[in-house]
Amino acid sequence: MRLTIITGPMFAGKSSMLLRYKHELSNDNIIYVNHPKDLNRQSACVVTHDNNKTDCIYVEKLYHLHNKSEYIKANIVLIDECQFYDDCKEFIIQELEKNKKKFYIAGLSGDCKQNKMGNFLDLIPYADNFIFLKSKCDYCGMPASFTKKIKETQEEIGGKNLYKATCRKHVLN
Ligand SMILES: [Zn+2]
Repeated sequence: MRLTIITGPMFAGKSSMLLRYKHELSNDNIIYVNHPKDLNRQSACVVTHDNNKTDCIYVEKLYHLHNKSEYIKANIVLIDECQFYDDCKEFIIQELEKNKKKFYIAGLSGDCKQNKMGNFLDLIPYADNFIFLKSKCDYCGMPASFTKKIKETQEEIGGKNLYKATCRKHVLN
């Protein structure tokens, strides 16, 4: 498969799934890419909500990967936090046309107001595989498809101190 899209709310295990691919496919030349907005959680490696760690390449724009030797050599590219990349759709389409690398890309299915973030979900028609992961509702324990912000703050990046995963009922109240 050339393009796999992984999405879902926060705390659904999207990063952990990418890290599992990295582990399972470790014989291939594989890189893990993340956005610097996620840097408060780690330094040169990424730490997921369940404390998995891996080495990571940070770029503000996916086009910056063209200047990275690790990317040029890679057969498999894992990209996390795709909702932060405004060049995601264009970049992936162009790279798929080159017919070389496999991409596994992950990002949020929506923000806490249930709006789309970025444009990576526009890649669904280009995808070989689409995975929607669920979390567990922090209020009732049912499967959670949504993310809710629990504090009125401009701060965007955070864990359970700022966000909860919710079912449809509890996203509203
Ligand atoms: Zn609930």
